[in-house]
Amino acid sequence: MPLDITTFTLVDKPVTLQEGLKILERDGYRCRYCGLDGTASFENALVMSVDFVTPRARKGKKDPNNLVACCWSCNTIKGKRIYRNFDDAKAHVLAKREELRKVWKAKCAKAAAPAAAG
Ligand SMILES: [Zn+2]
Repeated sequence: MPLDITTFTLVDKPVTLQEGLKILERDGYRCRYCGLDGTASFENALVMSVDFVTPRARKGKKDPNNLVACCWSCNTIKGKRIYRNFDDAKAHVLAKREELRKVWKAKCAKAAAPAAAG
């Protein structure tokens, strides 16, 4: 099943339900940045959105060439920076995710350490 209808209320307002659906269908309901599968679970479906590669704040157009399926995490990480193109944006998002993963792993290791020592 594709996304739950409630998801579309969360899609960026300038993109209509139909426009958002077209982009999500084109991209197979997968985040174009991290590959998160929006059809794998309800939780995944809830975080799927449509991203303006060049943000609206930077005069990015509502054009299929400027719109990609995107999860909220990647959308937040991507922020409002300007990128040369989608590949540039994707490289930034994936690098930042790796950075965050390392921080998270270090925190998990710290949290687990006392138990391991005891
Ligand atoms: Zn993502």
